[in-house]
Amino acid sequence: NIYLCTQSQDKGACNDMYNNVKHFINGEWVESTGNETIDVINPATEEKMGTISAGTEEDLDKAVQAARKAFPSFSNTTREERVKLLDRIADEYEKRKDDFIKVITQELGSPVTFTEKTQYEMGLRHFRETAKILRDFEFTEQREGSFIQKDAIGVSGLITPWNFPTNQLSTKLASAIAAGSTVILKPASQTPYAAMLVAEVFEAAGVPKGVFNLVNGSGSKIGNAISSHPDIDFVSFTGSGGVGTKIMENAAQDITKVSLELGGKSPIIILDDADVKYAARNAITNIAANTGQVCTAGTRALVPASMHDEFIEAIKELLPEFPVGDPQDKNTFTGPQVSEEQWNTVQDYIQKGIDSGATLVAGGTGKPDGLETGFYSKLTVFTDVNRDDTIAQEEIFGPVLSVITYNDLDEAIEIANDTIYGLAGYVVGENPETLTKAAKGIRAGRITVNDGKADFSAPFGGFGQSGIGREWGDYGIEEFLEPKTILGLPN
Ligand code: NAD
Repeated sequence: NIYLCTQSQDKGACNDMYNNVKHFINGEWVESTGNETIDVINPATEEKMGTISAGTEEDLDKAVQAARKAFPSFSNTTREERVKLLDRIADEYEKRKDDFIKVITQELGSPVTFTEKTQYEMGLRHFRETAKILRDFEFTEQREGSFIQKDAIGVSGLITPWNFPTNQLSTKLASAIAAGSTVILKPASQTPYAAMLVAEVFEAAGVPKGVFNLVNGSGSKIGNAISSHPDIDFVSFTGSGGVGTKIMENAAQDITKVSLELGGKSPIIILDDADVKYAARNAITNIAANTGQVCTAGTRALVPASMHDEFIEAIKELLPEFPVGDPQDKNTFTGPQVSEEQWNTVQDYIQKGIDSGATLVAGGTGKPDGLETGFYSKLTVFTDVNRDDTIAQEEIFGPVLSVITYNDLDEAIEIANDTIYGLAGYVVGENPETLTKAAKGIRAGRITVNDGKADFSAPFGGFGQSGIGREWGDYGIEEFLEPKTILGLPN
């Protein structure tokens, strides 16, 4: 097991992380004021990994008070001090690499190779990139008729999902620290251990007491209480649209600012000059990575009608290169769904696809052969999908691809934009002009052309019902700031 220690603690008194029912408040691991707990399940084995506290509103109040108390002094630290702090956080995060890989692979069921190369790495990149951006970030601006100063927004409540346990936290935490805001984090109760390791990283990095607080618990209690807390100035949420709506409703009561990173149903426009095998690989990777539990996953492959049969053949040929199985196996590409609930949701959608008359190319309902234990789905590909079908409109959050044909590029772009979402889009092809037309035509927050790689300095967020606000880089820092205009200030 992994042990969590406060710096002042002698090692013998450390908490066994998997049985740590404490919260991290005001720089210390503290007992909950209640005694309800939540079990954390390893989705690959269906066994209990450990237990966390189902925090109470009183626990949250204590965390908010600690964050409030720490705010005046932390928001007055210099930019240089906060750059150094972010560098130290990144250094401490790197020291815990093995622990992060172990924990995320177990609690999420993320395949170990993906955990190391993507899950762990993305968390680190946010701290490093934000530190770099902060070095040149301007908090003041002298205009001809005014002086503008950007102040830290205050106490921020961060509510995060389970699908990228450290990436989701790190982008919010890095931006908050850069801005000088203090925080209360409530991670998803399916994947709390990565967040508890982050608490330890923050402590080891010397983050001042009260600047970072972690309260574990359910969304319906602690998440709900964060979004309606009168002394929280900003709620930064990543998760589902339904919960996003509730958070907005709560926050609206006292006009609290919210940012929402929600779901998607992203298109992959495959152009008629695309290499078919490359396009098929791109599409499968999109649904197989992280078991399709990716908000930006390309889940609708839009294929020229003339290329359809060849594309389907290429998909069938490539699927064996994407093995579903034990996350501890280095060769596994796709692990289980995070929970039984998520597995059931995915199964329902696959059944809906079959019922709608779409043609099953691969996969289907049930578990893959030999994987009866664990929440494993089959990599599932449907073709002959109509653009209005439920599986082409709703976010499944599982390894399910819908193939839809189109006749010309204008039609492809129209289909691409025909959902309530607008988080991401993908374009595959050769001709620079058509690539550009397709990329510019998709209404979404991030478009990836062919092999385009994530840029941690660039804004991340959605159009339409994919959300409000942006994370990552300088745009992410801006969310945690309030611009103030001062007129008539003597020079
Ligand atoms: P979720 O909305 O169920 O939960 C997200 C977080 O909200 C969790 O911490 C949960 O405990 C909390 N929560 C639940 N009910 C709440 C309530 N009533 N009030 C306040 N908080 C509450 O989402 P999930 O199942 O954890 O994650 C999957 C969803 O997240 C998908 O829709 C996915 O697209 C979305 N997502 C979006 C992004 C993005 O950046 N746009 C990234 C990852 C995931």
